[in-house]
Amino acid sequence: MTYTILRAEAFDVRFPTSKMLDGSDAMNADPDYSAAYLRLFTESSALTGDSLVFTIGRGNDVQIAAIEILMEKVVGLTTDDAFARIGDIARELSADSQLRWLGTDKGVFHMAAGAVLNALWDLFAKERGVPLWKLLSDLTPEQLVDAIDFRYIADVLTPEEALQILRARVSERSANEALLLRDGVRAYTTTPGWLGYTDEKMLDLTREAVADGFTLIKYKCGKSIEDDRRRLTKVRAEVGPDFKIAIDANQVWNVDTAIAWVNQLQEFKLEWIEEPTHPDDVVGHARIAKEVAPTRVATGEMAANRLVFKQLLQLNAISFMQIDATRVAGVNENIANILLAAKFNIPVVPHAGGIGLCEMVQHLAMFDAVAVTGHHDRRIVEYVDHLHEHFLEPARVVAGAYQAPALPGGGGHMKDESIQKYIYPSGSYWISELSMNGAKR
Ligand SMILES: [Mg+2]
Repeated sequence: MTYTILRAEAFDVRFPTSKMLDGSDAMNADPDYSAAYLRLFTESSALTGDSLVFTIGRGNDVQIAAIEILMEKVVGLTTDDAFARIGDIARELSADSQLRWLGTDKGVFHMAAGAVLNALWDLFAKERGVPLWKLLSDLTPEQLVDAIDFRYIADVLTPEEALQILRARVSERSANEALLLRDGVRAYTTTPGWLGYTDEKMLDLTREAVADGFTLIKYKCGKSIEDDRRRLTKVRAEVGPDFKIAIDANQVWNVDTAIAWVNQLQEFKLEWIEEPTHPDDVVGHARIAKEVAPTRVATGEMAANRLVFKQLLQLNAISFMQIDATRVAGVNENIANILLAAKFNIPVVPHAGGIGLCEMVQHLAMFDAVAVTGHHDRRIVEYVDHLHEHFLEPARVVAGAYQAPALPGGGGHMKDESIQKYIYPSGSYWISELSMNGAKR
């Protein structure tokens, strides 16, 4: 049977993470992790399409407004029709010329298109009773390629090449799936590394992470070189010379500053420098990559779309592609990103954390592991241990590896009681918080 999308609703859900300085980095001093949350309703109360766009607080005001405009475009569709035409729907969501003017293919409306597409994929997976990674991994190469908008990337990745990449892996899919179910995909952690933490808290959490089986830890950096050297010296003393350490500047530097700064940290043998400068500065990233080698460059959590990734790859500007589940236009565009990375033999090392990003992006890494590039030791998925308890199936990391989720859907389905408590400003948490502190938020 098929279902009809009867209506859609967006919720503004905010968590008060700024109180603990969780998520603090050189650019973002006091984030309140938030979800611009979308739910698509069908005739069955048990079958909804759920997704979210991650923001760090007041951005929700704008993000929700954009989602509310775009979500109406899928109301009235049947699930069968939407599934058969998902590539066309993705193109249509980006093609409204009056809204496209505010992009193009980037920013708030692009992320809103992602919310709608991710909610549709969540709905498709729930309807079939499978987790999203499994749904994607069982699609034919032709179905996957049909989901992609090749406009602006066909000069480096044609549909025919994408088909070849996917077809080459078809015979390995079942073995890759068995391996995934046994071992999961490797994770690294950023939990110890927030800039607002004291050195003691950072080292305690570092010890905990090593004991938990993580093999790579990432630390925020970029506020002062003295702080970075002091923190990294202590971390190296704690973990020893061979443990993998990455750093993340969250875009604070100019290109020249990035080069000088990272070169002053070479003795710490860093696995990568993440987001050294503005995410749109592809040429700048290419120069940084060349001049800070052997330290490698990673970026992508704010890469606006597939063509930024295309250019980063064309110019050898990145050694790791950090896709994000909610930055681009949903599952569709991330399939394109994963295939672009495969063509250039660059590992996809997804960005996560925030709220719900671990739950959502793990499905894309697992699809990559089963159906695109297979299992290899260059893939490692970010994990941050905050706010998982709000989801129907919290991301599960055991011995440093994400375990394959089993629940049907795309992972972003938040518990109703969490939505009710943290919906802004009418949820029970915010009513008491705002009455105590006035409306300063
Ligand atoms: Mg980052």
